[in-house]
Amino acid sequence: TAVLQARDVARSYGATPALRGVSLDVADGEILAVTGPSGCGKSTLLHCLAGIIRPDAGEIRYRGERLDTRSEADRSRLRRTEFGVLFQFGQLVAELTAAQNVALPLLLAGATRRNAHGAAESWLERLGVAGVAGARPGEMSGGQQQRCALARALVTEPRLVFADEPTGALDTLAGEQVMGQLVGVARERSVTVVLVTHSGRVAGYADREVVLRDGAVDPAGLGIAR
Ligand code: ADP
Ligand code: ADP
Repeated sequence: TAVLQARDVARSYGATPALRGVSLDVADGEILAVTGPSGCGKSTLLHCLAGIIRPDAGEIRYRGERLDTRSEADRSRLRRTEFGVLFQFGQLVAELTAAQNVALPLLLAGATRRNAHGAAESWLERLGVAGVAGARPGEMSGGQQQRCALARALVTEPRLVFADEPTGALDTLAGEQVMGQLVGVARERSVTVVLVTHSGRVAGYADREVVLRDGAVDPAGLGIAR
């Protein structure tokens, strides 16, 4: 069954069309890579699927219900509770320690400090970065920062993770670690992942690949099984 469905999704920025009618289904528990050259509309599609921006035309459904027509408050609540997001640069809060960054989504959701920090510590440990729990992002390597950002994306136990070039700022080894961990957790917990990347190697971690060209799904690249 499809957890996410896009139907004829179009989106422009002013006069620049970014998506020209994209339809795709994301199956429950699937790891889907959206690939294609720079500027083909990958990020725009991810932002539409995650409810961060609204399409100009077409529909997005999450578990069968319209997502794109919901209010910003509603979509934002959904992103906090059921979705995890990971971007190219972890976007950790510079003034907070790794543990405080990871605990933040739970604190915002109303968890006690004790529970939030307990969960943060255990995710940092699981992802191999317990050693930097008390460090601030500026004191950490890029790979450590991104693993903390991954811990922060997973700490609320989301059903769906959206990752936009999650290894784009990393060297190959650090990228492999982050991808291996994301995919490992997703498989273990049947988390659905939508992964945007221009990298064929990163797309190799996915179950299936959808290729975009100029804002449309490339029929030749549709549903490449991995
Ligand atoms: P990709 O992620 O594949 O690089 P994007 O979705 O970022 O593609 O961009 C698709 C198109 O939309 C590109 O032509 C890009 O320049 C344009 N675009 C993206 N974001 C904006 C924006 N905020 N304002 C104006 N144009 C944008
Ligand atoms: P290209 O798409 O230009 O061929 P690469 O695939 O070599 O580029 O790498 C693009 C980005 O993906 C790099 O920034 C790198 O950090 C990351 N990366 C490369 N190989 C891997 C890998 N095996 N696993 C995870 N990330 C990777």
